[in-house]
Amino acid sequence: MPPVFRFAPSPNGFLHLGHAYSALLNFDRAGESGGAFLLRIEDIDATRCRPDYEAAIYEDLGWLGIDWERPVRRQSKHLAEYRAALEKLATHGLVYPSFESRAEIARLVAAREADGPWPRDPDGAPLYPGDARSLSAGERARLIDAGAPYALRLDMAAACRRVGGLSWRELGEGPDDMPRHIPAQPEAWGDVILARKETPTSYHLSVVVDDALQGVSEVVRGQDLFQATSVHRLLQVLLDLPEPTYRHHRLIRDEAGGKLSKSTRATGLRELRAAGATPASIRRRVGLG
Ligand code: GLU
Repeated sequence: MPPVFRFAPSPNGFLHLGHAYSALLNFDRAGESGGAFLLRIEDIDATRCRPDYEAAIYEDLGWLGIDWERPVRRQSKHLAEYRAALEKLATHGLVYPSFESRAEIARLVAAREADGPWPRDPDGAPLYPGDARSLSAGERARLIDAGAPYALRLDMAAACRRVGGLSWRELGEGPDDMPRHIPAQPEAWGDVILARKETPTSYHLSVVVDDALQGVSEVVRGQDLFQATSVHRLLQVLLDLPEPTYRHHRLIRDEAGGKLSKSTRATGLRELRAAGATPASIRRRVGLG
C-alpha cells in the first residue's frame, strides 16, 4: 500500500513559514514515496475559524507548488463521525461530563496550589482539578436538563487501566534517523476534554478519527505535537483504529529564536510573498533548498 500523508491546518489565521515547512515535508515525502498527499481543514472551533483563512490556505499552498487530493476533508462537515466515536468511548464507561466554567477551574487550581504545586500537562496547562467524575447519574441528568454548559472528559485513569502500556513508532525527522518506540504517557494529560455541549468533538478526538478514516499511514507534524501523540495512541487503541507511524519535525523559529505565531506578520507567507519571496526562496529559508 502506498503511504498516505496529510497536512492538517486550522483556518484560524494565515499560514506562516512553519506551516510551509510542514506542508512541504509532507508533500515531498508523498512524492518521493509514490504516496498520497491529503489536505485536511481542522475547522471544528467555529468561534475562531473563518472562510477567508480557509481560502488563504488553498491559495498559499497552491502558490508554494503543493497539490492535494480532492475532495478536501473539512472537519465541520463530519460531526456525526466524531459523535459515533465519542459514543463508543462512552459505552466503555470512559466519558463523563464536567460542569465547571474556566473561571471555576482556575479557582479550583488556585485552591489546590495552596497545598503545593498542582500537576500541569505537557503544554503547561493545569490538569483538571474537579471531581465531576464522582457526580451521581441523577445529578448529571439534573444539570444537563437544566441547560448547564458542560465538557465531556475522558476518564484517563480508567482508560489507561483498560489498555495497559502503550508506545508509538517515531521515525524522526531525517532520512537517517533510527525508528524508535516512544513510551506513551497519556496520564500526563489528565482527564482531557473530548467534546463540549455545543461541539461533539475536540482536536484529540477528531484527529485520530480522521487519520484512521483517511488511511493516513505516516503523520508528519511539528515537534509541538510530540507529547499529544500519547493521547492519540490511547484513543486509537480504545477505538480500535489502526496505528500510523509518526515523524515530529523541528519547529521553524523567528530570528530571535521564538515560536512563530499566526499573527506575526514577518513570517507570514502572504507578507513574504508581497515582499518578493518566491516558492524557491521559501524552501531555502526553511532548509528544504
Ligand atoms: N490542526 C493542527 C494545527 O493546526 C495540526 C494537527 C495535526 O497535525 O495533528 O496545529
